[in-house]
Amino acid sequence: MSKLKIKGLYKNYPEGGLTTEVLKDINLEINQGEFVLITGPSGSGKTTLLNCISGLETVTEGGVYLDGVDFSKFSKKQMAELRKTKVGFVFQQYNLLPNLTLFENIQIACVIACKNDTNKINTLLEKFNLLEFKNHFPNQVSGGMQQRTAIVRALINDPEIIFADEPTGNLDSKSTVEVMENFKYLHQEYKKTIIMVTHSLDNLKYATRHIKIIDGKVVLDEQINA
Ligand code: ADP
Ligand code: MG
Repeated sequence: MSKLKIKGLYKNYPEGGLTTEVLKDINLEINQGEFVLITGPSGSGKTTLLNCISGLETVTEGGVYLDGVDFSKFSKKQMAELRKTKVGFVFQQYNLLPNLTLFENIQIACVIACKNDTNKINTLLEKFNLLEFKNHFPNQVSGGMQQRTAIVRALINDPEIIFADEPTGNLDSKSTVEVMENFKYLHQEYKKTIIMVTHSLDNLKYATRHIKIIDGKVVLDEQINA
């Protein structure tokens, strides 16, 4: 069974009296352990797709099945539970709280037993070469380091899938490489399924599958770097 199955997905936004069709009949099956990169021009619907398949947004029509369960019909409460425990998110803006240290930013995201499990947080910080900066505040470290903290935060509840929307969009080339190497590590060492939206075709070398979206439709879907 596929980890994530997207069946006949449509997403419309009402605009004035009109409706904008953003996603048009998307059908995809993503397996456990894939590292999927979604590319496409600006405005093609990448963020909308990621939000719909990660439970951040409702869908207009169709189903999104995680381990065979269609969560597109979930209540708000069920959806919140899914977001807390089953999926992790990394955004273009790192979304760290400025008045908390890197350590505290991760700790506050813990929803299961790890709140007081400082060992777990420290171990992850060490693996991602952030331990010596754990008591720094976000504005005291580089953008790359902030994003890498956001990656650890996304990992802290052991999600099954990590969704990332343009995670290197604000970074210089050196930090981009560091962040992408971290995602590669998540994929290879933690066996996480990763679904990432990106502008940068340079990032394709880290992924196992490339899906291209134009005008709300999948125009290319291929395995890469096999
Ligand atoms: P991308 O991430 O590929 O740049 P988006 O998914 O953000 O594209 O947007 C795709 C299209 O959907 C754009 O035309 C955008 O204007 C429209 N859109 C996105 N979100 C909304 C919204 N909340 N309301 C109305 N239109 C939206
Ligand atoms: Mg976008």
